[in-house]
Amino acid sequence: MSKFVAPPPGSGLDFESSPAYQRVIQNFEAAAAVLNLDPNTAARLRRPERIVIVSVPTRMDDGSVKVFTGYRVQHNDSLGPYKGGIRYHPEVDVGEVCALAMQMTWKCAVMGLPLGGAKGGVRVAPLRLSYGEAQNLTRRYTAEISNIIGPEVDIPAPDMGTNERTMAWIMDTYSARVGKFCPEVVTGKPVDVGGSVLRAEATGHGLVYTTTYAAEEIGLKLEGASVVLHGFGNVGTHAALAFSRRGARVIAVADVSGGYVNEKGIDVRKFVDYASKNRTLEGVDGADKVEGDSVLTIPCDVLAPAATGHVITVENAAKIRCKVLAEGANGPTMPDADPILERNGVTIIPDIVCNAGGVTVSYFEWVQGGMNFFWREDEIDSRLQQLLRGGYERSREFARRHKTPIRTAALAVGIERVDRTMRLRGLYA
Ligand code: GLU
Repeated sequence: MSKFVAPPPGSGLDFESSPAYQRVIQNFEAAAAVLNLDPNTAARLRRPERIVIVSVPTRMDDGSVKVFTGYRVQHNDSLGPYKGGIRYHPEVDVGEVCALAMQMTWKCAVMGLPLGGAKGGVRVAPLRLSYGEAQNLTRRYTAEISNIIGPEVDIPAPDMGTNERTMAWIMDTYSARVGKFCPEVVTGKPVDVGGSVLRAEATGHGLVYTTTYAAEEIGLKLEGASVVLHGFGNVGTHAALAFSRRGARVIAVADVSGGYVNEKGIDVRKFVDYASKNRTLEGVDGADKVEGDSVLTIPCDVLAPAATGHVITVENAAKIRCKVLAEGANGPTMPDADPILERNGVTIIPDIVCNAGGVTVSYFEWVQGGMNFFWREDEIDSRLQQLLRGGYERSREFARRHKTPIRTAALAVGIERVDRTMRLRGLYA
């Protein structure tokens, strides 16, 4: 039997020792143990199927060329083509992308989508790029990964630091390379170039839908409930708007510029407009400014971490004072923080269900693009709710039956589905 030799630390290939990867592995092992997963399957699932690392030379506005590092990691395609977003972030590394790719596999699986899991990233600070630089970088990154993506192979989408404009450039670059209009290569595009209505809102709306399911269970009314959002990008803003439409009071939000608190409730519409005009909330009035991460420990009914991962740790978990933790971000909670939250009676909606609205409407967009037939907004919304309800209920039911935390349950439901498919398909020798 061949033995895997771990690449040396610092080589850029050492994904297995990355904290982000270890977090998903720790959660995976807990679910695999409950399932009594076949060790041969577990060995295959612990590692991605493919890791691609590319150089992305980019012409900057001053005429210089900067070389950025880009990644695309494909974890598993047993259920269907690889699917997952592309993250632009200055600290993204191979371990984080591997971790997020694996999470996409479980997310698509628990939601019952016919898609596998992947993730991409470029190590860059997106807010520092001009419009032209962002376009140059995106087109070159797309060209570098164009051999391994495609509508039946691997379909990227937005994630942190990317948006529908980025997706339009990817679609255009890929279409130019293959010589035909190819909108289904990417999801999260603007509606005018083959995107789906409600895709932009989907992750935030999904967060609110799954929060209502959890709230029903514990007898919490969303009307009048206090909400704190850590993150005010695509997910946070759409969640904030949807929460306030349901009569909830958003008492604090945070973005890269800091935290903003108003116990009476912030004017969500005003904050969203301000952030979209100014890129961040710096200088907004109508709230007291505090340190960004401090909003996590404000007592509230619903806390939604909707930005970066790893913000709830053993250090701050005991200070979290919410009834429902709605994980809009991928991996906001460290495994060691989970038992502390549970002991304190926090109802957790695990990320792979809570933020699955995005990939679910991505799936709808991919289907619509493939047949060139576009659905109405109410059709998309009701299908989204149906699938989210299913993912949530399956996880809840598993947790009840096996007496496990819901995070383990959601993963187990996903892993079990992938395992079943892998058994049926067998191992290509
Ligand atoms: N980046 C999003 C996620 O983490 C969306 C992925 C997609 O739509 O493919 O779920």
